[in-house]
Amino acid sequence: MTFTMPEKGRDWDSLSQEMTDRASVDVKWRDGKTAVYVFNGGEDVRDVAKQAYGAFMSENGLGPAAFPSLKKMEEEVVSMGLNLLQAPSGAAGNLTSGGTDSITMAIKAARDYRRSLNKLNGHVKLDGQGNLVIPWSAHPAFDKAASLMDLEIRRIPCRDLYADPQAMAQAVDDNTVMMVGSAPCFPYGLIDPIAELGKVAAEKDVWLHVDACVGGYFAPFARMNGVDLPPFDFEVPEVLSMSADLHKYGYAAKGASTVFFRTEELREHMIFNVSDWPGGRMITPTLAGTRPGGAIAAAWAVMNYLGVEGYREKQGQVCDVRQYIQDGVQEMGFQIVGDPKLGLMAFFHPEFDSFALLAQMMKRGWITAVTTEPRSLHLMLSPFHAKVQDQYLADLKASMADIIAGDDSSVKEARYS
Ligand SMILES: *Cc1c(COP(=O)(O)O)cnc(C)c1O
Repeated sequence: MTFTMPEKGRDWDSLSQEMTDRASVDVKWRDGKTAVYVFNGGEDVRDVAKQAYGAFMSENGLGPAAFPSLKKMEEEVVSMGLNLLQAPSGAAGNLTSGGTDSITMAIKAARDYRRSLNKLNGHVKLDGQGNLVIPWSAHPAFDKAASLMDLEIRRIPCRDLYADPQAMAQAVDDNTVMMVGSAPCFPYGLIDPIAELGKVAAEKDVWLHVDACVGGYFAPFARMNGVDLPPFDFEVPEVLSMSADLHKYGYAAKGASTVFFRTEELREHMIFNVSDWPGGRMITPTLAGTRPGGAIAAAWAVMNYLGVEGYREKQGQVCDVRQYIQDGVQEMGFQIVGDPKLGLMAFFHPEFDSFALLAQMMKRGWITAVTTEPRSLHLMLSPFHAKVQDQYLADLKASMADIIAGDDSSVKEARYS
């Protein structure tokens, strides 16, 4: 690298200017030009998160005795989440740095729980390499966590886009640490049949985790708004843990997710406790050591700023945008993948390649995602998209016209990196 630290520092004004200039080549998310990576709940919500983050930027959630304020905020955030997800009394959880952290820690808890079992319900202690039985559509965070913990991943083909409980049941064996369903999965935005997965989990006596990273702070409000959703949370008695991201449809600052357990005893298998070093006892519930006070404070502030009423309104707007774009693209000959009911959707045109359409949309400043099976355009919508839904449809129409006119650009692969 040829870039070395400047000998003398620079003033904030010139740094700020330079950063603004650098950001000018980024996707115009403030104009709604992306439907992945950013959740735009509006300027006012962003401002609350920013102020709260700044106010607690130096504070450290690692030290609850030093910062009882953060401890209390975390407890309240966790409690609000548990209530929304219909957890029974005695349920517990923690705030983490993100969905990957929440998922990793839930798996760690499930693995250590299995290791701790001593011939309970005919289940012997985990002996040898454990495995995770997950649907084909589950998030890659499970693969990463499995790799970290040397667990085997068993991705089981979906049936009509949903997790297939029977096929998953067949993949479960004595070393299965966890079964997973998503609410919803990222590629299609569809909620897996959690109640049916629960029946398998009961029959096989296996830990069931629901990955509600993208839906945990959306689906409960959609249901309050009258959207007909199948059971997906702790209402299903076999669900032992859940992950739900605040930095997605919770509209909190990035670096905030929640991981939940049906009982405090299960949560305790997540906690890491070390005293065998010269620094004294160090107890950490999540993957992080130092925990950003800003992320905790921003999550707490945004949840209290919006309240149930605010979230219901935002998530209602998102569902309206999804329906509007759904109707619009169907009129243009696209087919919707499955029957999405939340903020994510995938759709494809039988006569146009989705990767070619995405390349065209990128020329028009849009950066959105694609799904590979079937090859589809993918949108993860925000309330702000209500302002640009017509522009999106118009740009899509123009993209199709350019392809018909012979422009053969295409994106090479679907990737997030
Ligand atoms: C975003 C997401 C994750 C991972 O969360 P990160 O915060 O990106 O680590 C896991 N599962 C689903 C369904 C997601 O949408």
